[in-house]
Amino acid sequence: MHTLTGTAAPVRLWTDPESVEPGALTQLRNCANLPWTHGVAVMPDVHQGYGATVGSVVAMRDAVSPGAVGVDIGCGMSAVRTDLTAGDLPDSLGRVRAQVERAVPVGRAGHREGPDLARLGIERGYDWTGFWSGFERLHHLDEASWTDADALRAKAHRQLGSLGSGNHFLELCLDGDDRVWLMLHSGSRGIGNILANLHIERAKQLPHNQALPDRDLAVFLSGTPAMDAYRADLYWAQEYARLNRRVMMELFKAALGRGLGRTVAFEPEVSCHHNYVSEETYDGVELIVTRKGAISTEGGRKGIIPGSMGTGSFIVSGLGNPQSYRSASHGAGRRMSRAAARRQFSVADLQAQTEGVECRKDAGVLDEIPGAYKDLDTVMAAQTDLVRVEHRLRTILCVKG
Ligand code: 5GP
Ligand code: MN
Ligand code: MN
Repeated sequence: MHTLTGTAAPVRLWTDPESVEPGALTQLRNCANLPWTHGVAVMPDVHQGYGATVGSVVAMRDAVSPGAVGVDIGCGMSAVRTDLTAGDLPDSLGRVRAQVERAVPVGRAGHREGPDLARLGIERGYDWTGFWSGFERLHHLDEASWTDADALRAKAHRQLGSLGSGNHFLELCLDGDDRVWLMLHSGSRGIGNILANLHIERAKQLPHNQALPDRDLAVFLSGTPAMDAYRADLYWAQEYARLNRRVMMELFKAALGRGLGRTVAFEPEVSCHHNYVSEETYDGVELIVTRKGAISTEGGRKGIIPGSMGTGSFIVSGLGNPQSYRSASHGAGRRMSRAAARRQFSVADLQAQTEGVECRKDAGVLDEIPGAYKDLDTVMAAQTDLVRVEHRLRTILCVKG
């Protein structure tokens, strides 16, 4: 573990500060110098983000920065082990990929009429009425007209169980025993983005945020109506993100069964947010912990650390180290911007780096080339005191958003 010197609150890093880009170091110092900050933990996949770095944990007393959570509230990963082994799969996975692409809305799309939750058997006994009535209490509805609210609700309903764009993905992977896993990455879609941006803008207007080193780090303070409104919206969006992944996983499972023409058995889903807030206690101190590109390692909890579409991923169990606020990295992390990746690599590079993976290999996904991400083995080696490896997964099919 490394530390930064000269900050008001401690900054602990699971990577050499020399290897961190200057812009990200400035962001870490800015976070650590806020008067509310208890400490900052920096994961080995750290890189510059909006206000706060991606791949970091900011723990505050009686405050939270919506910019430090990010605009995809509840973004995270889900994974499921199947009873299939590699030998149960066809030699060519093209047909399976087509089935998956048809079954799960990818890109900006949603379901035409909302997902059929009853048919999918999603969360039997779950209080769906309570969940959607939570939507009616969302703080943004104070300002929206009822027509807007209806349109927003309809959109949130349609988008439930859809992937979104960017580096959200669905994958089939193999573990060391050749067992097949389903894995996916997504968050709270359009509605989470609307809520996040609205609260970030609101926080920036508050008087106590006018003299910050970076106003993108504007905070809400406990005991204020603005904080109460943010917390309510935030926790609703985090739940939406979890449900979004649940619905998609059921669609994915069904598509796999159809693609293979057989019944498949599935183990319970591992699901972890990596952009979220949780209230936790350390040494008797209650803290508001923001993980932006970091997973929880609390109580031996299972987590997912993806690398890239050519590298594969890790299933881990948490060691609960309090020094990192019981957190670990959320991935390998970007090594370069999307623009830099497009400049540096060619479609031939992409084909070489995704050999053996059934996925898109055209210029449209060049910015997602494995070489644009950090080396996953190096990232894992830097956090052996944070997580234990349960499985190493190799990607064999990847659908990008
Ligand atoms: P983020 O949530 O910050 O957008 O990305 C999470 C992490 O996922 C990235 O840091 C990267 O290491 C990993 N990743 C990005 N694309 C893929 C992919 O297609 N497959 C896998 N397995 N991992 C990916
Ligand atoms: Mn996301
Ligand atoms: Mn994410």
